[in-house]
Amino acid sequence: MSLDKNSRDFDLKPGENEQYKPVKADITCSSCGKKSEITLRPCVNVSLHPEEKKMVLDGSFFVYTCPSCGEKMPIAYPCLYDDMGRALMIYLLPDQTEEALQQLNAQQSTWSADMLKAAKVCTMRAVRTVDELAEKIKIADAGLDDRFVELSKAFVFAQFLKQMPGFQARKVLYEQQSGQDGLTIFSAEGKQYWAAFPEGLYDEVVRMFTDWVGKKENTEYELIDAGWSMRILSTIGKE
Ligand SMILES: [Zn+2]
Repeated sequence: MSLDKNSRDFDLKPGENEQYKPVKADITCSSCGKKSEITLRPCVNVSLHPEEKKMVLDGSFFVYTCPSCGEKMPIAYPCLYDDMGRALMIYLLPDQTEEALQQLNAQQSTWSADMLKAAKVCTMRAVRTVDELAEKIKIADAGLDDRFVELSKAFVFAQFLKQMPGFQARKVLYEQQSGQDGLTIFSAEGKQYWAAFPEGLYDEVVRMFTDWVGKKENTEYELIDAGWSMRILSTIGKE
C-alpha cells in the first residue's frame, strides 16, 4: 500500500472540515489483507495535546499498525499541525500539493474575523511530506525563520555537491547535531550525510535577503521549499 493511494482512498480534503472533526476511513493491511476502520484526525493541536508533538516529529502520528499482524503502514493525509504557543500552523498536503494549497487558501473568504486576525500573526506553511512537517517544527524549535533556513540550505547543499560530484539527493532536511545547525542529506541509494551550516552563515543570509523575502502581509498558507528559494535566488540573479 502506497502513501499516495492511501491519501486518495481517504478522500479527505484539506480545510473542508471547519471543526476539524475526526474522519472515519477504511484501510486494508498490505501484509495480511485485514480490513479495518481507522479514525483520521485532520488537526493536531499541540497546545492542547503537547504529547502529540513528539509523535509528529518521529513520524509515528502518521503510521498505522495493523491490529491483526502488526504491519506498520504510512498514512499521510491532509492534516493541520497547530502550535498556538509558537504561532505556527503547518498544513500537511501530501497529494497534489499546489492545487490543494490553492483550494485551501481560496477558502479563507469564509473565515471568521477572529481566524483571519490569528492568521495575520501566525507563520502559516504548507508541506508535502511528514518529513517536511517535522523539519518545519525543528526549525521553529531552533528559533529560526524557515525562509532564511531554505536559503541557507541552498548554499550549504551547493557546497556539499562541489565535494560530491554526481551526487543524487533524495531529500535534504534541516537538522541540528550537537546543537549545531546543519543539513541531513539522503542519497538516492539511502545513504545519509550531515553537513553543518558554516559559522555565521544563517545571520549573513538574514542580512542579505531580508529585503527580498519581504514582510508577512497575507494570511495564506505558503509553500516555503527548495523551489521557493530557487525563485528568490534567480530573481536576485536577474537584477
Ligand atoms: Zn495485517
